[in-house]
Amino acid sequence: MPGTLSFDDLKSRVADGTIDTVLVCAVDMQGRLMGKRFHAVNFVETSFKETHCCNYLLATDLEMATPEGYAATSWRKGYGDYVMAPDLSTLRQVPWLEGTAMVLCDILDHHHDPVPHDPRGMLKKQIARLADLGFEAQMATELEFFLFEKSLDDIRKSGFADLTPISGYNEDYHIFQTTKEEHVMRPLRNHLFAAGLPIENSKGEAEAGQEELNIRYAPALDCADHHTIAKHAVKEIAWQQGHAASFLPKWRPDRVGSSSHVHQSLWQDGKPAFHDPQADLGMSDLMRHYMAGLIAYAPDYTFFLAPYVNSYKRFAKGTFAPTKTVWSIDNRTAGFRLCGDGTKGIRVECRIGGSDLNPYLAQAAMLAAGIKGIEDRMELAPPTKGDVYDDAKAADIPRTLRDATETLRRSDFLRQAMGDDVIDHYTRCAEWEQEEFDRAVTDWEIKRGFERA
Ligand code: ADP
Repeated sequence: MPGTLSFDDLKSRVADGTIDTVLVCAVDMQGRLMGKRFHAVNFVETSFKETHCCNYLLATDLEMATPEGYAATSWRKGYGDYVMAPDLSTLRQVPWLEGTAMVLCDILDHHHDPVPHDPRGMLKKQIARLADLGFEAQMATELEFFLFEKSLDDIRKSGFADLTPISGYNEDYHIFQTTKEEHVMRPLRNHLFAAGLPIENSKGEAEAGQEELNIRYAPALDCADHHTIAKHAVKEIAWQQGHAASFLPKWRPDRVGSSSHVHQSLWQDGKPAFHDPQADLGMSDLMRHYMAGLIAYAPDYTFFLAPYVNSYKRFAKGTFAPTKTVWSIDNRTAGFRLCGDGTKGIRVECRIGGSDLNPYLAQAAMLAAGIKGIEDRMELAPPTKGDVYDDAKAADIPRTLRDATETLRRSDFLRQAMGDDVIDHYTRCAEWEQEEFDRAVTDWEIKRGFERA
């Protein structure tokens, strides 16, 4: 792809002055890019080997708070450093910022061992487990988000009151309305493409101001890297154009939410291992086992697809967001949709994830579930049909963050696949989010009770 840089390319661009800044970034628990802006000369001379960050970066919340209760990091332990180790295979230009390149890092401890709860490391671990079984995962994550008329700064200063979407009506597949948004979306597609991301398309989504960006499927780690860089670019390019982009899954109760569907297939020796032309629907036994694991363990890993209190507001009947952990054939009311049946492009789409998911954690958890299905040769139930929202027999997705925290805490399967330390860490992360919410007094409570209670 254009835009991905070898280290030698970077050195020559630094020498000729076309690149002067390198963003050295790790990915935090929330899926955000965190790091430092290096002078490019310093990066190519020394910092390409490693730099350091405070270890609270993998234990903080959206507000950069320092919650108690993490075994790995605390005031008592003194909040020391982690090593940020640049993965030079991710070096690329950042075409929407002048003279700038970017590299993603793995997070290591003082002994240069991987930190077990580093999201990127967690995905690498599941990819390695899958490789031991002889397979490679290809994934695609869709990015949905809203664009607003005003900038993020103006909206924040208005107390988040002035939330006018960039368009006045549902723009699902609309070409005319999305033409009016091309000052944001065209540079987004083109800059990301020039940064080496295989952009497929953007389209209007099923609400006023809602957009979708699609990136071609790629090996799982690349897919998560692409998602993270693209989400970051959406916010920066919208900001450059004076608008706000939000990935909050549900910003108004009467509008559909934003999701991040994840398409998944396994491959062996460059061939699609989910496809068996002789089998029913073209689904190989491998695919059936993988999907059985994915579906059976969905409640265990829902936290990794829906990590905030707000994420659960999206799961509403009749909104295209699912409420049930069942599968169906090309039917958008179920949690899992079979796509491309009978073809080499056969894959499963998980529709549970919100636009706020961390793609490394989501993919790590789903791969772990699929691997469990393969290892235990789990049987896939028949597909559900019709409007799955009303299927009383179908199992529910956990309805609240509180429920999902408990299914995570009690998940023996995830503890085995990821380690007790990792699951304890993320359970604490989930608990903290709920505790913070429970301390808040919301606008709704004030409006409802101020006068009439
Ligand atoms: P739809 O419009 O129904 O969502 P698309 O044809 O746009 O479906 O595909 C959705 C996503 O699935 C795209 O990002 C595409 O790259 C991805 N995809 C296609 N084939 C595969 C595959 N074999 N494995 C994983 N993802 C795939």
